[in-house]
Amino acid sequence: MHRLAETVLRVILGDQLSSRLDVVAGADKDHDVFLIAEVMAEASYVRHHVKKIAFLFSAMRHFAEALRSAGYRVRYVTLDDPDNSQSLDGEIRRAVVALAPDRVVVTEPGEWRLREGFEALRLALSVPLEIQPDTRFLCSHAEFSAWAEGRHELRMEYFYREMRRRHDLLMEQDGKPVGGRWNFDTENRKPPKAGLESPPRLSFRKDRITLEVLDLVKRICPDFYGRLEPFHFAVTRRQALQELDHFIDHILPGFGDYQDAMVRGEPYLSHSLLAAYINAGLLYPLEVCRKAEVAYRAGRAPLNAAEGFIRQILGWREYVRGIYWRFMPGYIERNALGAVEPLPGFYWTGETRMACMREALRHTYDHAYSHHIQRLMITGNFALLAGIDPKEAHEWYLAVYADAYEWVEAPNTIGMALYADGGLLASKPYAASGNYISRMSNFCDGCAYDPSLSVGDRACPFNALYWDFFRRHRERFSGNARMPYVYSTWDKKGADQQEALSRQAEVHRVALREGRL
Ligand SMILES: Cc1cc2nc3c(=O)[nH]c(=O)nc-3n(C[C@H](O)[C@H](O)[C@H](O)COP(=O)(O)OP(=O)(O)OC[C@H]3O[C@@H](n4cnc5c(N)ncnc54)[C@H](O)[C@@H]3O)c2cc1C
Ligand code: SF4
Repeated sequence: MHRLAETVLRVILGDQLSSRLDVVAGADKDHDVFLIAEVMAEASYVRHHVKKIAFLFSAMRHFAEALRSAGYRVRYVTLDDPDNSQSLDGEIRRAVVALAPDRVVVTEPGEWRLREGFEALRLALSVPLEIQPDTRFLCSHAEFSAWAEGRHELRMEYFYREMRRRHDLLMEQDGKPVGGRWNFDTENRKPPKAGLESPPRLSFRKDRITLEVLDLVKRICPDFYGRLEPFHFAVTRRQALQELDHFIDHILPGFGDYQDAMVRGEPYLSHSLLAAYINAGLLYPLEVCRKAEVAYRAGRAPLNAAEGFIRQILGWREYVRGIYWRFMPGYIERNALGAVEPLPGFYWTGETRMACMREALRHTYDHAYSHHIQRLMITGNFALLAGIDPKEAHEWYLAVYADAYEWVEAPNTIGMALYADGGLLASKPYAASGNYISRMSNFCDGCAYDPSLSVGDRACPFNALYWDFFRRHRERFSGNARMPYVYSTWDKKGADQQEALSRQAEVHRVALREGRL
């Protein structure tokens, strides 16, 4: 007997805008319906940056248009639709009632919270709900588990080498890494030279869809964090590919040398700005890595730039995702250093006397972006030294960056920046004094504080807080072989100086609580 074709409701989340996912590639134009929904529950469960919301809604609407143009049926629910239940499971339930599909298919979400929600929904729905693996990642959950199983330490570097071999990226035919070394990071730490600036970046014309979304965000999210305009984001795959090509052709060659440098008024320098597009599905991680390799092999980019860039995506990006899923749900609750200070209000307002923090926070507020070293060594470093509650810091990072999703943000914040996972991810805390910031940036010129002073009214807060951090956590860190000089330098300081530094750190903590720092 001929079986009637079934109807499948295919749910696409805002960060799954990829036509190569099975949920899209396996669709039947005649019978299936895609569901894409803008819902307040997702837009507001942390205080998201308005640019992040506008980018995602515009990219979702463009993706829906592309599906419709290709002949698919799409049920798109806008944020201001009066019937919108404003939650994902509410919209799936509504669609099931309205369309009576035989089953529902969704790609696994990138957050534990949502995956739990889908598991609960599976039990509640009247039709089967299938959760498919997210095949855009280059390392599956099973592959990560196989790599991690039985290892004493889960270090990114060893994971990365295996990923290079598995995906044949920057490898010689004899199985050795190109250039004879796996990692050229030591060549990517130059302080900024005079006049270092961001190469010109692309800005995409705002079409009708984007203008409507900007208007919607202005109307519905007036009190949200961040500056909405100017709005330069790519919102389609075609535009994201232009951004990728622009980066590979014009910016990648300089990516390596000044990767860690920071310059006033220059939020981007030679960073790619691609994370928001890769994470939302407009670009595929492997195509990005392959293009960087091609540029290197054609002599258009030096090895330290291509390797450094590929390592971030093939190594760090895949690795942090593996860590997230392996250690959730407890991971975001970790607080190994017992840090309990509330997140200072200036993380939202940018109003602080510390010029480096002001700078990083202004980039964040204006662009929903600040580059990795600012996230790690300015805002992250300060939160680490000041003992800010990791959960509060985590929620801030999740809210303010256009590329932020819990699977990638949480390990970077809780693990890399705050050492709150007790060293699972980072072999040592990324703690630095004002000296480092002064060397790697020009932020200290014009600051109310002086990076060369550790005690007194004009002392840079990073200095005493740095020493006091290591004093407070001596038991944990004194045996760490990766920090041979910290405690020998501290011990040489003598009791008076040590006491002065500890007292000064307390002065900074009080000033912080009273909003004077
Ligand atoms: C506290 C903290 C929070 C972070 N939160 C996020 C986040 O929410 N989302 C996010 O994508 N990245 C996050 N990162 C990692 C990194 O800072 C961003 O990926 C990067 O700044 C994005 O800018 P870019 O695209 O210009 O990256 P580039 O510097 O040009 O790097 C190239 C690409 O490598 C990948 N990448 C680089 N570093 C990392 C990393 N540590 N982990 C994972 N992928 C990486 C990204 O896909 C990025 O696009 C965070 C880092 C820290 C220290
Ligand atoms: S002096 Fe200290 S607080 Fe001021 S910009 Fe430099 S590092 Fe930051």
